[in-house]
Amino acid sequence: MKRLACGLLAMLMLTGASTPAANTLDIYFIDVEGGQATLMITPAGESFLIDAGFPGDGTFASQPGPPALARDAQRILAVARMAGVRQIDHLMVTHYHADHMGGVIELSQLLPILHFIDHAAPSAEAEVIVPGTIALYDAYVTLRATGKHTEPKPGDRLPLAGVDVVVLASAGEILATPLPGAGQPNPACTGSGEPAQEKTENPRSTAIRVQFGAFRFLNVGDLSGAPLFALTCPTNLIGESDVYLVAHHGGNDGADPSLFAAVRPRVAIMNNAPRKGGQARTFATIRSMPTIDGWQLHRSGSPTVENFPDARVANLDESTSAWIKVSASANGSFTVTNGRTGQSIAYPQQ
Ligand SMILES: [Zn+2]
Repeated sequence: MKRLACGLLAMLMLTGASTPAANTLDIYFIDVEGGQATLMITPAGESFLIDAGFPGDGTFASQPGPPALARDAQRILAVARMAGVRQIDHLMVTHYHADHMGGVIELSQLLPILHFIDHAAPSAEAEVIVPGTIALYDAYVTLRATGKHTEPKPGDRLPLAGVDVVVLASAGEILATPLPGAGQPNPACTGSGEPAQEKTENPRSTAIRVQFGAFRFLNVGDLSGAPLFALTCPTNLIGESDVYLVAHHGGNDGADPSLFAAVRPRVAIMNNAPRKGGQARTFATIRSMPTIDGWQLHRSGSPTVENFPDARVANLDESTSAWIKVSASANGSFTVTNGRTGQSIAYPQQ
């Protein structure tokens, strides 16, 4: 047993990865109550976390405190342990709001973070709209200095082995030219899209597409307003993706049908909370396209929303904090598992 463990350790050191290699790309959508924390484990065993939820007890007013009491950092740690992840090889902060980067300081005290990926500093106006943004950013910059730091531009690739991760948008800029295979006109474009509900940091979100073989995953953070619209209108710059984490927690500013029509996701996941995101127009858009299967991290308590079936909802109330897991194969097939029920739905190779 000991020899086996030593052999395994040697293998891990050779690949430089934190977890043993597998033949799937696994993506956990962790419940941070209306923020984002998306943990990917690549087939080569690298861990790639997008955002780390809220600080402290989980509000915009919360401050980072003892990591043992940090709601979201503890939830990320629990999933990491379950998945065999002992360090965060790459952390991408989509933008500097507390529901996305608030948990980073506490998480760093629970798991080493080696590489920080982000974009330039928030504006003074961002602090006016969401007070506390600059203080959180300053603490983050101090932490970031302990590791490697990258500020990728649209079109850049992130340095992960075995998967292709391309940046679509960052700091308000988007791709200048279509991705290979994309570039078609999008007949679903009308008007100029939905205005951003928050106009300072959300439209500066870093957006990426992750590709493993024939499988593609689109994650745009809280990208909204003109940069989100321009990704697929009037020309589809980003092609199709199998799984789409719906922009801005499924808020109405991510509801424009043009992006869904261009990307043609088979599965659309909303990282909503009972009273945040998951707004009625987004549900209506997804329902209007029968080829899209909608999933939610939380049942919405909004009286104007008709939720997806319970089997597609990770948390029916606040008594659970279940994740949704996507496990994808290189041939493009994947499963989606509801962490609350343990039940999986298979989406076959196309
Ligand atoms: Zn957010």
